[in-house]
Amino acid sequence: MRSDVAVVAVGGLRGGTDTRVRSDVGSSVGRGAGSCAGSGRRLGIMGGTFDPIHFGHLVAAEEALVQFNLNTVLFMPTGAPPAKAHRQVSSAEHRYLMTVLATAANPDFNVSRMEIDRSGTTYTIDTLHALRDIYGPAAGLFFITGADAVWEIVAWKDAEKIADVATFIAATRPGYDLEAARKAHLETETRFKIECMEVPALAISSTELRERVASQRSIRYLTPNSVVAYIDKHGLYRSGHGPYGTQP
Ligand code: NAP
Repeated sequence: MRSDVAVVAVGGLRGGTDTRVRSDVGSSVGRGAGSCAGSGRRLGIMGGTFDPIHFGHLVAAEEALVQFNLNTVLFMPTGAPPAKAHRQVSSAEHRYLMTVLATAANPDFNVSRMEIDRSGTTYTIDTLHALRDIYGPAAGLFFITGADAVWEIVAWKDAEKIADVATFIAATRPGYDLEAARKAHLETETRFKIECMEVPALAISSTELRERVASQRSIRYLTPNSVVAYIDKHGLYRSGHGPYGTQP
């Protein structure tokens, strides 16, 4: 079967008409996914390491909410990310708390502990199956993350099993060769539905924030003030060696 790859160009902060379908799903998800099994709802799942979360992530989530008529976006900080042996990652609790701080003011955003509380390596397939069990067959699941991570997930050997569970939204940075990625994916003949969303704000990266903190440069206006303060309070990213910062 052919894969289905579509491109949605996101020009600015508000890329198009706000046609969001409003419902009570947003707040329910935040209180605990189990309380919100429902039909026909469209749930965005924003998967990422968020080390740290920044405005690029927040803009991408907002754009996905609008462009894909999602009822809510559930941020899902990854627990033990696959293939992160090449660099240290802040504790799950630090990453979770920064994500909560960054999203707290937005009623359409919520944060889940599902992956950080699950032991072992975090696989997206497990998360999507768990959410499908909770929300039922009629709910629309949209997994949003960086384009490179999306290609990695859909290339995973058992990933065909999740082709029917969720649509993937691949967020790309300026300069990303979307056409090459699209062609490469089409050649795989998989049956994934992948939407690509160009997000100029993703010129900001977590890597840049970590490097800025390590070299004592400002990260103001790259991430919410609450996250700047949290990083400072806990001494995150100051050292290139050993575990980051103090305990949360
Ligand atoms: P990553 O390799 O750290 O990031 C790859 C690129 O995507 C980076 O440029 C990153 O920028 C960007 N990115 C990451 N999350 C993003 C988001 N939510 N929105 C926009 N850009 C994003 O990727 P990762 O954080 O480890 O993984 C991303 C998600 O894919 C997680 O949910 C992870 O569990 C999942 N994943 C699953 C599998 C699997 O199941 N086999 C494999 C890989 C990843 P920043 O550094 O600025 O965020």
